[in-house]
Amino acid sequence: MFDTLSDRLSGIFSKLRSKGRLTDADVDATAREIRLALLEADVALPVVKAFIFRLKERARGAQVSQALNPAQQIIKIVHEELVAVLGGEARRLQFAKQPPTVIMLAGLQGSGKTTLAGKLARWLKAQGNQPLLVACDLQRPNAVNQLQVLGQRAGVEVYAPEPGNGTGDPVQVAKDSIEHARRHMRDIVIVDTAGRLGIDTEMMAQAAAIRDAVNPDEVIFVIDAMVGQDAVATAEAFRDGVGITGVVLSKLDGDARGGAALSVREVTGQPILFASTGEKLEDFDVFHPDRMASRILGMGDVLTLIEQAEQAFDEDQKEKMAAKLLGGEQFTLEDFLDQLIAVRRMGPIANLLGMMPGMGQMKDQLAELDDSHFDKVTAIIRSMTPGERTTPKILNGSRRARIARGSGVTVTDVNQLLNRFEQAQKMMKQMGGMMGLPGGGRRKA
Ligand code: GDP
Repeated sequence: MFDTLSDRLSGIFSKLRSKGRLTDADVDATAREIRLALLEADVALPVVKAFIFRLKERARGAQVSQALNPAQQIIKIVHEELVAVLGGEARRLQFAKQPPTVIMLAGLQGSGKTTLAGKLARWLKAQGNQPLLVACDLQRPNAVNQLQVLGQRAGVEVYAPEPGNGTGDPVQVAKDSIEHARRHMRDIVIVDTAGRLGIDTEMMAQAAAIRDAVNPDEVIFVIDAMVGQDAVATAEAFRDGVGITGVVLSKLDGDARGGAALSVREVTGQPILFASTGEKLEDFDVFHPDRMASRILGMGDVLTLIEQAEQAFDEDQKEKMAAKLLGGEQFTLEDFLDQLIAVRRMGPIANLLGMMPGMGQMKDQLAELDDSHFDKVTAIIRSMTPGERTTPKILNGSRRARIARGSGVTVTDVNQLLNRFEQAQKMMKQMGGMMGLPGGGRRKA
């Protein structure tokens, strides 16, 4: 599931990695590519449009974020927007004040309704409830039997019409089941209804009649995540025909493109409550929009790192750095060392490149820095006098030779570091300039 979309998105993000900052043109180009990736994943057009609109607006506003580099900023925004499209916070089932709580399932035939009924019953029972499964799918020949098998596996009672007892009316069965639940102290009633292969008015009318008979606390629309663009029409038909309060995505284990999953929340206006991920009763869980979004981005690790970077780079440091840049002070070797040490504290350098503010701009300089390089650079800077650290210009040949000896490296190493630092310094000045400071952000002493 979502594999193609994940691949496409990570390709788009990797192009951004080499960028020091994002221009409007970069934002537009990235937005265009994300738009295409979403459309190819079968996400409904109105959903894509709204998504891209918000993305652009936020990406432009986010250009001066200090804690994250451009790729990270975009990943973060896309992640948050995906979470929003998937419904934001996870929502729990609504229970009736007076038991039994009635949960009605609706959806097309084959969408996974009956399977879901069994899964839901098992899950609710595990939480200490006494559910009752009700077989109101009297259309599909084997549905009643299928529910009985599932009920047995879940250890949950199934209420079904006696065969040949003249009780072929699903509305009556539904009504009677509520009475049965009351008498037998069942606190949750799960009503499985009939579906058709396509939407038809008779099916909708029957579902609406069952709804009126049992007055459900939840009407859950089950949708097969494998269906592509059809998902929207189906979801709209159920929204208008029966009225739904929640959605369950089934067959999320399949390798479909996933558009239905991303569209259904916005199309129905109702939250996705659960996700079904296989044929077994236990392949089922509460739906978490944030986890799903991370899975789509295929970069749980990166997202964690982004969070860490934002936290590790605490407010104090942020303000100090911003004040330095805004005040137009010169970025010195001392600051360089401070930042290196801060980066080092956060964990393996390879994971953290470019995460520090300003360090995003120094990415290339940092790219060659593995941990042993880091130690070398630290040693070199520590071998300098305070004067040399603030004014590297005074570092002539003999001073460089002294530093090399003092830190156990070659003069070439010292030269390389100073070159790198000089580039970093230039970029810091540019950043100051970008923030609207005269003279490239440098204050005359
Ligand atoms: P209904 O007609 O809506 O009641 O659909 P069923 O519950 O009978 O499911 C139709 C088919 O899909 C069955 O073969 C199920 O085993 C299968 N199925 C249901 N849910 C899932 C799921 O989450 N993953 C997979 N792979 N198959 C599922």
